[in-house]
Amino acid sequence: MSDLTQNTEKLTSYLARFGADGVQNHIAGKTLPAASGKVFDNASPVDESHICTVAQSDGTDIGAAAQAAKAAFPAWRDMPATERRAILHRIADGIVARAEEIAFCECWDTGQAIRFMSKAALRGAANFRFFADRAPSARDGQMLPSPTLMNVTTRLPIGPVGVITPWNTPFMLSTWKIAPALAAGCTVVHKPAEFSPLTAQLLVEIAQEAGLPPGVWNLVNGLGEEAGKALTEHPDIKAIAFVGESRTGSMIMKQGADTLKRVHFELGGKNPVIVFDDADLDRALDAAIFMIYSLNGERCTSSSRLLVQSNIADEFLAKLKARVDNIRVGHPLDPTTEVGPLIHKTHFDKVVSFFDKARAEGATIAAGGERVGDKGYYVRPTLFTDARNDMAIAQEEIFGPVLTAITFDTEKDALRIANDTPYGLTGYVWTNDLTRALRFTNELEAGMIWVNSENVRHLPTPFGGVKASGIGRDGGDWSFDFYMEQKHIGFATGQHKIPRLGA
Ligand code: NAD
Repeated sequence: MSDLTQNTEKLTSYLARFGADGVQNHIAGKTLPAASGKVFDNASPVDESHICTVAQSDGTDIGAAAQAAKAAFPAWRDMPATERRAILHRIADGIVARAEEIAFCECWDTGQAIRFMSKAALRGAANFRFFADRAPSARDGQMLPSPTLMNVTTRLPIGPVGVITPWNTPFMLSTWKIAPALAAGCTVVHKPAEFSPLTAQLLVEIAQEAGLPPGVWNLVNGLGEEAGKALTEHPDIKAIAFVGESRTGSMIMKQGADTLKRVHFELGGKNPVIVFDDADLDRALDAAIFMIYSLNGERCTSSSRLLVQSNIADEFLAKLKARVDNIRVGHPLDPTTEVGPLIHKTHFDKVVSFFDKARAEGATIAAGGERVGDKGYYVRPTLFTDARNDMAIAQEEIFGPVLTAITFDTEKDALRIANDTPYGLTGYVWTNDLTRALRFTNELEAGMIWVNSENVRHLPTPFGGVKASGIGRDGGDWSFDFYMEQKHIGFATGQHKIPRLGA
């Protein structure tokens, strides 16, 4: 039996549980449908087949979830942090135990290849362990003595928070946002993306089995403009952690204005990978390919603009084209697949529309530029050459396996082109000139930069973008800064002079 056949059989057994009731909500420890009884359909991008129905929640369900999160907050906040740590570690254990089920469901729901999703499930467990271990020190503060006062600071969890996640690697991203919220002592209402709801349900189930008290983590499914909007407007929700498109972030900021919501945004990108002629070109080629064609190119940190120095461009691009032509497009559950189908018809249409835009703008489609098959949302990995940075293919986030290559002559040109975008999430710089690397990274407008490396995530480092790519940082202690409030307390150390009015 082939690996694909074997995996497909296992998938059938994993999906069976979604059959009867579909994906439901989880509020105050109970699994239940939307109060209105409404559902929407969830289909697989692999063959467009129906997977299950999903609760289509509205403000009533969000209200119930916010109330549950509010009621559960004081006890969760006041639980000794070592107990919270133990529960979060048990959630990580549960993720590891069900890693295959999570990965298979994620592949079927999103079209991502199993070679990447098995690792994404385990990274979810690692996120829980990392923040679990930091829970006991989350409230630590500083002692800042002044002549008359002993000033101390501490941090307290902000309250119930809303977490809104996108459809790209939804499982991993949900853990990345929810684990630090719980470790900080916040309670959570999670609204996952409507295109990929399966694994959010598995995650909340695992949390409940791990002993998380009812109401601490609530899951409400639904559409962004309905359930998502209601969550951002709810007065009992103190902060919104959002991962998604820049224009949605802008809407959320407006929606949250009346209730003065604290927001944390991880948004889009159009990230440059800059290859200078003195770089290790073989490694630069491997990294550039990996960072745009892995995860179907549906990755916020993807290196979607290749800036290559003109004197090495012909040879570099020829090698690149040969590799792109050779990327294996196929069924996500086939272990040899490198690129699977795009998430949804809407997104597929958007990605495909850039093939025509590239032609109209005068770029060359050096590889790909077409659909694969007539069922499922597959596109051939695509490379645009002869591009200019003012073209839509260089300015807009395509969010597919599509790379736009641009040549440059000097370091100054490279910097100008790299920074000439509304976004500023990541940048990748390939050079063996140390002074140039220092100079260039200092001026490159991005929240995260890797030199002579692809994106290798290290959890204690800050994750986030500048410009239209986001507001705020995750990772290390930065996550706690968002989910917690600073408090200052000044204790008088003696009888300092108090100004006497009306005496
Ligand atoms: P999206 O903005 O369309 O949707 C994200 C989530 O927001 C979904 O759950 C959706 O239902 C919800 N939503 C939509 N409208 C809403 C509204 N008015 N109020 C409240 N919630 C609303 O994004 P997507 O298409 O699901 O995800 C892809 C995007 O996410 C890309 O732009 C990508 O770059 C970005 N992303 C960024 C990072 C990062 O770390 N910077 C990571 C992953 C993805």
